[in-house]
Amino acid sequence: MGSAPVTIVGAGPSGLTLAWWLIQHGHTVTVLERESTVPRDMRASTFHPATLDLLADSGLADELVARGTVVPQWQYLIHQSGERAVFDMTCLSDVTVYPFRLQCEQFQLTELLAARLAEHPFCSLHFGAEVKEITTSTDGVRIHYQHHNQMVDANCDWLVAADGASSQVRRSLGLTFAGQVFPKTSITLVLDYPFEDDIANLLGVNYVWLPDRHYSLMRLRDTWRFTYSPEQDQDVDTALSDPVARAHIKNVSASAAEATIRSRNYYTLHQRCLDRFCHGRVLFVGDAAHLNSPAGGMGMNSGIHDARSLADHLVPVLEGEDAALLERYDRRRRTIALEEVQRLSAQNYARHRETQTDKRQVIWQELQETVNDPAKHRDYLLDAAMIRSREREQTIE
Ligand SMILES: Cc1cc2nc3c(=O)[nH]c(=O)nc-3n(C[C@H](O)[C@H](O)[C@H](O)COP(=O)(O)OP(=O)(O)OC[C@H]3O[C@@H](n4cnc5c(N)ncnc54)[C@H](O)[C@@H]3O)c2cc1C
Repeated sequence: MGSAPVTIVGAGPSGLTLAWWLIQHGHTVTVLERESTVPRDMRASTFHPATLDLLADSGLADELVARGTVVPQWQYLIHQSGERAVFDMTCLSDVTVYPFRLQCEQFQLTELLAARLAEHPFCSLHFGAEVKEITTSTDGVRIHYQHHNQMVDANCDWLVAADGASSQVRRSLGLTFAGQVFPKTSITLVLDYPFEDDIANLLGVNYVWLPDRHYSLMRLRDTWRFTYSPEQDQDVDTALSDPVARAHIKNVSASAAEATIRSRNYYTLHQRCLDRFCHGRVLFVGDAAHLNSPAGGMGMNSGIHDARSLADHLVPVLEGEDAALLERYDRRRRTIALEEVQRLSAQNYARHRETQTDKRQVIWQELQETVNDPAKHRDYLLDAAMIRSREREQTIE
C-alpha cells in the first residue's frame, strides 16, 4: 500500500469532508479507517444551515435534504401545559440557502462521501486500517497501522487526525486533552412511533420539559429519536433496560411506550479541547481536537467547519506557501471551539436540563422574550445556526 502527501486517519464526517475538499483542489489523499465499512453512527442527527451552505456546491447538501427531514421551526415545549417557545429559522433566508435544521443521520453524509471518494482517482480509501502509532520528524510522519491482519508502515508529508474522541493519534503523541465530564449522561432511543399523532403541536425538533425532567424528541425521515438522562448513579444496564426506557417514553406518550425500540445508545458527555490543533506535521480536526455537549447539535457541524478551514489553509501550503499559514487554522478553529461551540452547547446543556422551578421560570421568561422580539430572535438563531461562528472565524488573523 503506497502513501500520499496527506493521510487522514478516520472516515467520520470531519475526515471525509476534508478528503473531499482536498481532492477538489487536485491533491491526492489516503484515508485510513479502522472499521470494515462506514460506521452507521447514531450520534449526530442535526445539520445546521452554515454546514449545508458549505456542502451546497458539491450537491451534497441537496442529497442530504433528500434523505432527511427539513425542520424550519423548532421549540421548547412544556409537556403538561402545552406552552411553547417556537424558533422560526425562515427569518434567516437572507443569509443562508438552507434556513432550517436538517434532521438526517450523520452516516448519510459519510456514506455519500465514501461512495464518491471510493471512485475518485485522487483518493485511496482503506477500511479495516487501524492506526496504532505515529512518529514525527521535521519533514514527515511515519504511520504504523494494522490493515486487516497485516502490520503496515507508511510515510506521509502531513497527517490529519480525524479519529474521533478517543483519538489514537492524540494518544500516540502523548497530548493532554484537558476538560471535564458533564454530570449527566444521555441515552438516545430510536423508535418507529409517530409521536406527532399523540402530542399536540409537536415539531421536528422538540426540547420537552416535564416537572422534574427533560426529554428531547427529534424527527428523522422514518423514525423518531427520544433522548433521556438516566437517574444519578443508575448503572448503565438498568438505565438502558426495557422497563426503564419504556417508563421514560410513557411520561410523554402512553401508546409510544409500546412501540418497537430500534436502537438504544448510552453516552458520557465531555467538554475538552487540545492546547493546539497543529503539532508540526500532525493536524487535528473534529472530535479528535475538541468535544462539547451534544445539546444544540454542534459537534459534527463544527468538525465539518474545521475540515473546510483546514482545507483552505492546507491547500496553499501543499502548493508552496509557508507552513506557518497553518497557525491561522489553529487560531481560528480553536477560538471557535472554545468561545462559540463550547459556550453555546454548555448553555444549551444547562438550559435543557434545568429542573428547579424558579430557575426554569427565568429561562422560560428569557425564551419568551427572545422568540417575541424579532431582533433577539434573529440574533439567537444566527448563533444556533452556526452562521455567526463561521463569520467570526473569517475575522481571526
Ligand atoms: C448523543 C450525541 C448526539 C449528537 N448529535 C449531534 C448532532 O445532532 N449534530 C452535531 O453536529 N453533532 C452531534 N454530535 C456530535 C457528533 O456525533 C460528533 O461531533 C462527530 O461524529 C465528530 O465527527 P468526527 O469525524 O470528528 O469523529 P467520528 O465521527 O468519531 O469519526 C472518527 C472515525 O475515526 C475512526 N477511527 C478511530 N480510531 C481510529 C484508528 N486508530 N485508526 C483508524 N480509524 C480510526 C472511527 O472508526 C470513526 O469512523 C452528537 C454526539 C452525541 C454523543
